[in-house]
Amino acid sequence: MAVGETMMAWLDPAGRGRFVVAAAVLGTLWVLESVAPMFAGRSRRLTHLGANLGLAAINGVVLYGFAFGLLAVSEWARMRGWGVVRWLGLPPVWAWVAVLLLFDCWQYWWHRINHAVPWLWRFHAVHHADAEMDASSGVRFHTGEMILSATARVVVLPLLGMTVLQLAVYELAALPVILFHHSNVRMPAAVDRVLRVLIVTPWMHWVHHSRWQPETDSNFSSFLSIWDRLFGSFRLRERPQEIRLGLDGWPERQWRSLPGMLAAPFVKRRGVDRERADRSRSADQ
Ligand SMILES: [Zn+2]
Ligand SMILES: [Zn+2]
Repeated sequence: MAVGETMMAWLDPAGRGRFVVAAAVLGTLWVLESVAPMFAGRSRRLTHLGANLGLAAINGVVLYGFAFGLLAVSEWARMRGWGVVRWLGLPPVWAWVAVLLLFDCWQYWWHRINHAVPWLWRFHAVHHADAEMDASSGVRFHTGEMILSATARVVVLPLLGMTVLQLAVYELAALPVILFHHSNVRMPAAVDRVLRVLIVTPWMHWVHHSRWQPETDSNFSSFLSIWDRLFGSFRLRERPQEIRLGLDGWPERQWRSLPGMLAAPFVKRRGVDRERADRSRSADQ
């Protein structure tokens, strides 16, 4: 069938492209993190990298099936002329710009929802519990969170009128930025200040990974930094090297291993949810 052939024609190149970009960017950042780290004293970098990449590999396999579903719904919407961008009747170039901006905006709100809804937070907390954050933390997401995100996209793509090619382009452009803003590279303040006019930078995202909840619940943008400024969640620290990364009160040690990370959202954690609420009340540090 034509749809099946289309899938094979470019889903594989898209996957390969992401893999090559991720490997090149992770390798470059690994060297920079070794030469000039912002947070010093990392003694188990290889084990940490192995666990995070292991989780990413599982996600890659599980999500492959979703790619076919996404292609099917986006093609279905395209044939019917469905989606906000199509209804606007924009010229092709502006339709691309609009759909990529709208999708980045969706990513912001999806991330923010993950912080606000307790059962979604259970999955997203695996990303935040990484106390030794580096570029590989940019692919450390629980498989459950990835499945939920992909399921939401089954609705979001036809609603926006976004094609799977546009999604692949967005993901390819966002991936280096996501790996970069998770990295442990000692970014000069002046360079970061210039870059964050447009994209999310390490100085922004380290704040998001702070143990202090008012900071955890800030800087939700993934790619363009504009959404945090627009929706009032932009926040910075004068001396980011003083940020305590990770999550207080969560079993970080158990969550370091791949099995520990996978089991984390389903483990009964006495008082942990209450602890998160308490942290938001005691808004001092
Ligand atoms: Zn988050
Ligand atoms: Zn992050």
